[in-house]
Amino acid sequence: MVAEVLAVIAALLAVASLSLTVVITRRIGSRDPVAVPLMWRRILRIQPLPSAAGSFMTPRDGNEKIAFIANPTKSGIEELREQALRACSIRYLPQPLWFYTTADDPGTGQAEAAIEAGADVVVAVGGDGTVRAVAQALAGRGIPMGIVPMGTGNLFARNLDLPLGDTQSILRTVLEGAERKADVGWMDIRRAYPGHGEDGRHLFLVIAGAGFDAEMVAGADDRLKRRLGWFAYFFAAIRHLGEKRMKAWVSVDGGEEIVGHMRTVLMANIGKLPGGISLIPDATMDDGRLDVATLDARGGLVGWTELFGQVMAQGAGIKDTRLLRILRTSRIDHVRGTEFDIRMDQPQKVQVDGESLGRASRIHAFVQPAALTLRVPQGTVPQRTDEPKTADCASDDADASPSI
Ligand SMILES: [Mg+2]
Repeated sequence: MVAEVLAVIAALLAVASLSLTVVITRRIGSRDPVAVPLMWRRILRIQPLPSAAGSFMTPRDGNEKIAFIANPTKSGIEELREQALRACSIRYLPQPLWFYTTADDPGTGQAEAAIEAGADVVVAVGGDGTVRAVAQALAGRGIPMGIVPMGTGNLFARNLDLPLGDTQSILRTVLEGAERKADVGWMDIRRAYPGHGEDGRHLFLVIAGAGFDAEMVAGADDRLKRRLGWFAYFFAAIRHLGEKRMKAWVSVDGGEEIVGHMRTVLMANIGKLPGGISLIPDATMDDGRLDVATLDARGGLVGWTELFGQVMAQGAGIKDTRLLRILRTSRIDHVRGTEFDIRMDQPQKVQVDGESLGRASRIHAFVQPAALTLRVPQGTVPQRTDEPKTADCASDDADASPSI
């Protein structure tokens, strides 16, 4: 009898889990079709939401020379090239320049060459890696940048409200969209050992991080991402739940170092992740600041569950998540500033916009305000608010000393 009851409960749980998975995947797929593999979209009959960029746009004046920097490994690139040629030709624009990225140069060199050739607008065609590489060449140059998202994550494109999966609207945005300024983040990394790779400076547009999040990014390889979409990160995360917390010393805007234990430290220019989850909800890319968050979980699965609850609550717009910390096994601390120095007791994996950079023992991150001019859908440029430009910090645990 007991066995039968248990079997019924197990079956009910399995049905509930399956239903939840279907609901979440359909929600993500309708907002961002590219994030869910085609086969799943067909099986679950996922329809994209109406495009935000479908409205009328004002054609630009002049004779703009457009340069496309495309990642040739993405499927559909040749079709896109034909569509781009047609889109330029029907607007009486000059024939666009077209460059392909390579494994050795994922876009920075090609964007430099496009600028040399007199491009008025440079367009990154590919995933977040291509977008980052092209932005690296354009930062501070004042030349408008367009994006044709063709990756798995498309983290930056998602934050710009680009109509993912709708090529015609994307091309219209590139050629006729509004323009907005965006900050960029830079991360200098210092290796602990020569075998860990070279020191270097890397641009990020969305989130850079060290620790658990970078382990998760490194664990979700391209093959897994192609097969599972955003679930690849979930499975990669599970493998690293049991690892040791890291100890880090954090200094904000040249101030005194604060030491703490944590699972991960995140530096955000903007904070929206796949599925509309907002990891750092207050981060905006036009305030000349980076938002840094340290996340901690202890006590095994209990702490991780509590932390996950806090992250989801923040994403849902709940600012004060203290009530969710029933067992006090997790915490999230936020701080905002322009420059951060982070030292770690053990070399940790680091990542920028979902690209793993190997292990580093020190990080210096800073913001370059209004460094990029982006082509975005008309009507999505936010009105500027003049916020006070002061460094501030917040802890979800007011009665304890902050962990950073
Ligand atoms: Mg910001």
